[in-house]
Amino acid sequence: LSGQEKQLEVMPIIDSTNSELMRRVQNKLPIHSGQVLVAEMQEAGRGRRGRTWQSPFGANLYYSYYWRLDDGLQAAMGVSIAVGLAVYDALKALYGLEVALKWPNDIYLNNKKLAGVLVELDGQVEGPCHLVIGIGINLQMPETASQQIDQPWTDIASHSHELDKDRLVAHLTYALDERLAQYQVSGLTEMVTQWNALNAFAGEVVCLSTGQRQWRGICEGIDAQGGIVLRQDGEVKSYYGGEISLRKE
Ligand code: ATP
Repeated sequence: LSGQEKQLEVMPIIDSTNSELMRRVQNKLPIHSGQVLVAEMQEAGRGRRGRTWQSPFGANLYYSYYWRLDDGLQAAMGVSIAVGLAVYDALKALYGLEVALKWPNDIYLNNKKLAGVLVELDGQVEGPCHLVIGIGINLQMPETASQQIDQPWTDIASHSHELDKDRLVAHLTYALDERLAQYQVSGLTEMVTQWNALNAFAGEVVCLSTGQRQWRGICEGIDAQGGIVLRQDGEVKSYYGGEISLRKE
């Protein structure tokens, strides 16, 4: 798509594509920004906070992308936002689909989960930060695996006849290259308005929860740092952090 050739690695079976790239980071094996790993099946696909990502063998995409940031953990905060937009870009370009984004990084179509993003980090407050960006996209979900999913879900096959996984990988990789380069040059400046236009919960009453604490309010969108903004009793407050979950009331 960019006119550049890029190598990618495909494995038939792996525990988790994110775990594999993170092992390479931790074992200091060669890895470079923009490197992609795809698996045909994951035996231990993960969501956030120990949840399972159903990853049966077949058409679905299990994809991880490595990116190195040199400005420490602080700079990693907005990455989920850039990644959500990259997934939007790819699905729009390839299938003409208009997905909605749920903070921090889930992808919904008609209120059903189509794709999930799991950004994992290895780094210090300052210095280099290694990011492994995992993306699972349901292309065609087998019946048996679908029965294990405990929330409304959907797949590309329910909306499009185009099910070529290679083309999806090419579009997704191109979109990530573009969005992460944009993020590195200008941060979230231009992305905040774009993300807010796609916010699945815009203007809705939502509940934010960390497991221990909960906050209720009207979802206003994201702020300049990528935090989620809630209006509560007339006051507007931002919340940050990878361990927070957002639910519609
Ligand atoms: P959060 O807001 O905390 O991210 P979440 O429920 O969306 O909440 P994730 O960790 O993003 O959680 O994703 C894992 C959840 O997604 C699972 O608990 C399950 O409900 C659902 N799920 C698992 N596999 C799939 C899949 N292949 N397609 C759609 N949804 C799935």
